Amino acid sequence: MNEYDSSRILDLTKKINFMQTKNVQEAQCYILNTCHIREKATEKVYHEIGRLKKEFRKKIKPIVIIAGCVAQAEGDILLKKEKYIDAVIGPQSYHQINDVILKIKKKTALKNITEFDVIDKFDTLNSLKNSNNKISTFLTIQEGCDKFCKFCVVPYTRGAEFSRSVKEILEEANQLVENGAQEITLLGQNVNAYSYENKRLSDLIFNISMIKNLKRIRYTTSHPKDFTQDLIDAHKNCEKLMPLVHLPVQSGSNKILQAMNRNHTIEDYRKIVDKLLDIKSSIKFSSDFIIGYPGETNKDFYETIKLMNDVKFINSYSFMFNARPGTPANDLVKIDSSIAKKRLIHFQIIAEKTKKNFRENLINNHAAVLFENKMKNGNKYFGRDELFNSVIVESNENLVGKVKNVKIFNGNQNTLFGEIVLNQTNYAA
Ligand code: SF4
Repeated sequence: MNEYDSSRILDLTKKINFMQTKNVQEAQCYILNTCHIREKATEKVYHEIGRLKKEFRKKIKPIVIIAGCVAQAEGDILLKKEKYIDAVIGPQSYHQINDVILKIKKKTALKNITEFDVIDKFDTLNSLKNSNNKISTFLTIQEGCDKFCKFCVVPYTRGAEFSRSVKEILEEANQLVENGAQEITLLGQNVNAYSYENKRLSDLIFNISMIKNLKRIRYTTSHPKDFTQDLIDAHKNCEKLMPLVHLPVQSGSNKILQAMNRNHTIEDYRKIVDKLLDIKSSIKFSSDFIIGYPGETNKDFYETIKLMNDVKFINSYSFMFNARPGTPANDLVKIDSSIAKKRLIHFQIIAEKTKKNFRENLINNHAAVLFENKMKNGNKYFGRDELFNSVIVESNENLVGKVKNVKIFNGNQNTLFGEIVLNQTNYAA
């Protein structure tokens, strides 16, 4: 979502004649868009400011603005500790950025802009064309979260759930496709909580799939509690909807899920997986895991391992629990960090093995790859298959924006290597 926000900030600042530079030293305004989900986020901001100070030691200082969730959560502290920062601006207030920049120039700016103005924000953004011209691009349809998982900062940094109107979303999707997008990933902190005048995520998917030149649709991140039958059916009925479902589970233990306030059981989660596989056996899953949550015993941990072994997630994002200031989990008694660390290593070994087994099965199979860009070296093209695996091929033909049948001949943990195959119909799942 920060990538989407950053590109919209760029669209906004064009209005006051700013443009992007790849050369930091020539920047007149430096906007750092931050994420607060992991620990050390604030330290990273100070580190980046330190780097910036060095770059501009003998030059005119640029305007420095910290945007995003760190600004929202710790804006006052940042401003107090680091005088090099001119203003902080939260993720629901960034539509005011031009005003802030102009006022900083006149030395009359408010320094901390962190109200939750989400309706105002999207009203402003809707009046601007989304200039993103990537083949695979993001589109925010929903923001915020009402779930209040005990470990999570999102409800405090992004605010309550808010869904954009169907009309606005379709207009922006059409703009993106006119700009050349062939794949759109619908974004939301709780994307499947989308609800606007009785329209759900599944309705949006069908509406967007009608856009003629759009080839692929994805969505992220979904919550098990909102994974309703209509969304499951969309995977059966909408060919453009890709078969990778990212469904965070966090733990395989009901006791820990309850402690986290996740509002679903592991049986609910498995039911969703089974239903999806029933309607389309080629669907694969990825997930997020927190290892070593307060109260996690060996038994709880092995329930998480069992879930990994049963569902065989093809990608997993796992972290050792770290308490975020301001969340209820911050006050809980932590488990021994050496035990948590050992469990994380154990989990990641199994997760990597699962991923490796899956990827080995792709070798010598075919995949439908949408190519996104030509790489810097040689005639290599980068694309993604339906399951979001990165694929690189060599070709003399310009492949950008094309879906090609690729035979995979090799791969590592991050990338698959293949060659274009003519007259093939047998795509790998
Ligand atoms: S559902 Fe997701 S975004 Fe919402 S509180 Fe829980 S982890 Fe955070």
